[in-house]
Amino acid sequence: MAAPPDPGARSGRPASPPRPGLLPPRITRRAAIGACAGAAGGLVLGATLPQGWAAVALGVAVGACFAAAVRPTRAAHLDTTVSAAALGVPAWALFSVILLPLLAGEEPQWTAEGMRGVFPALAGWLVYGIATGFLVQALSDLVARLVGPEPEAERPARPEPTRVVIVGGGFAGVATAAELERLSGPDPAIQITLVSDTNALLFTPMLAEVAASSLEATHISTPLRTTLRRTAVVRGRVAALDLDRREVAVATEGASDAAPREPVRIGYDHLVLALGSVSNYFGADRIAAVAFDFKALGDAIGIRNHVIDLFERAESERDPARRRELLTFVIAGGGFAGVELAGGLNDFARGMLAYYPAIAASELQVVLVHSRERILPELSERLAAYALERMRSRGVTFRLGTRVKDARPGAVVLDPPDELPTRTLVWTAGTAPSPLVRELPVECDKRGAVVVDATLAVPGRTGVWALGDCALVPDLRTGKTCPPTAQFALRQARRLARNIRGAMRGEAPEPFRFDALGALCVIGHQTACAEIRGLRFSGLFA
Ligand SMILES: Cc1cc2nc3c(=O)[nH]c(=O)nc-3n(C[C@H](O)[C@H](O)[C@H](O)COP(=O)(O)OP(=O)(O)OC[C@H]3O[C@@H](n4cnc5c(N)ncnc54)[C@H](O)[C@@H]3O)c2cc1C
Repeated sequence: MAAPPDPGARSGRPASPPRPGLLPPRITRRAAIGACAGAAGGLVLGATLPQGWAAVALGVAVGACFAAAVRPTRAAHLDTTVSAAALGVPAWALFSVILLPLLAGEEPQWTAEGMRGVFPALAGWLVYGIATGFLVQALSDLVARLVGPEPEAERPARPEPTRVVIVGGGFAGVATAAELERLSGPDPAIQITLVSDTNALLFTPMLAEVAASSLEATHISTPLRTTLRRTAVVRGRVAALDLDRREVAVATEGASDAAPREPVRIGYDHLVLALGSVSNYFGADRIAAVAFDFKALGDAIGIRNHVIDLFERAESERDPARRRELLTFVIAGGGFAGVELAGGLNDFARGMLAYYPAIAASELQVVLVHSRERILPELSERLAAYALERMRSRGVTFRLGTRVKDARPGAVVLDPPDELPTRTLVWTAGTAPSPLVRELPVECDKRGAVVVDATLAVPGRTGVWALGDCALVPDLRTGKTCPPTAQFALRQARRLARNIRGAMRGEAPEPFRFDALGALCVIGHQTACAEIRGLRFSGLFA
């Protein structure tokens, strides 16, 4: 497969013309000034050193080197003079004590007696330094006045960095940024930006534990800014993606709510779509209006607080029908998220009974509604049956082969027809890829996921990639498509980061391949069921 051209290789600045001389013009100019000043100072040296005219030539050379090394500052007479005078001491040690005697075929004069002989030359070098320093400054100022400031140093043209913009701060986006950081080190050729509407990575597999109050919210969220060291984190909501102009529009919060801000526009060379998914109510707006989502940290905290609040109300409620409504908790969806939540909430609520003496265990109901005849379709039938039995024995009610058809405050309507009086409905029965990606002028499947090839590239859009829950990624191991799980999103991210680095070097991208590790579902009360690499576990060990 041919490597797509790296869109980061934008036309840079024009190449600088070859230099005409050996030295840059500014250094030549400084050296010429230094040579003139050194010649005048050298007259002092000629008078004090035995080498006469050779000493004058030495003064010219030292003056040229001194001036070439010092960037001139206007009217800095004192600084330049003192610096040059200070140079007189090492120059004396180098030339008068060591080199000039050696050239004359003598030993270096660093014995006490020899030093005494060359000591008067030190005064000559000091006077030379003072004179040369003063003249360098005076001549530099004069030349600057007559012909203008010295030409600027030519900086080597640095290619503009390749801009990688990742949208979505979940598993896929954060892992892509982290892997790019690892692969790039401090390389300035790449600039990584992560746009996310949250400033922390959420460990969703343990969201049920937060809703069930067995973990604190901070235990399952990691701040993005401490995780990512050289990625620019932009907290804001992606409002629009313009694939033609290669721009992301981000709505950020201003300092004040009074004046809505203009969206920030961020240009990219590589765009990584990692926007994840949202709850899908399949158009049932009335259900959406009363149900809790179960995707974000706020959802889990909201559910926990709501359950505690309902217990408080039920404790003092005398009407049995209203007590039933308050103490019935309905979860729609029998996949991992729904089952884990039902198991966790059941433990949480039954554990709370000890603190609410007016509520009987028989009044409490955690109901899981699932449209199919068996829960946990991701696991084998045997493990799913195990999970069902264990949860049932602890008091969870299952309504299998049943759909949530409608909802209103105080009741959930089921199909086949039935009605559950409840104040709590949590929706885990459907998700859909982020609606933003469906609007893009790229191919999407019927759920709205961006179709990518096996290298995670969006066909026909060089430099646009997608992964995680918002993408339809072919699974080369099974011939199907990758499931929307964190396990896959993390591995896709590593492949994608390597493909982006490869594209920057003109290498062909490689396809994503991953053997799923297995699945694990916590069903409450320190029990789980798991299938890992074909091995099945259940109970406390799992
Ligand atoms: C309750 C629950 C339990 C789960 N348990 C497991 C499990 O045990 N094992 C497993 O492998 N998977 C599990 N998953 C699935 C897993 O969480 C997802 O597959 C995974 O998070 C997908 O990663 P992602 O980066 O594609 O999406 P996400 O992790 O959802 O990240 C998307 C990110 O994009 C951000 N975003 C969305 N829209 C915008 C916007 N317009 N502007 C800015 N930012 C935006 C979101 O805030 C989010 O940070 C679970 C999911 C849930 C909800």
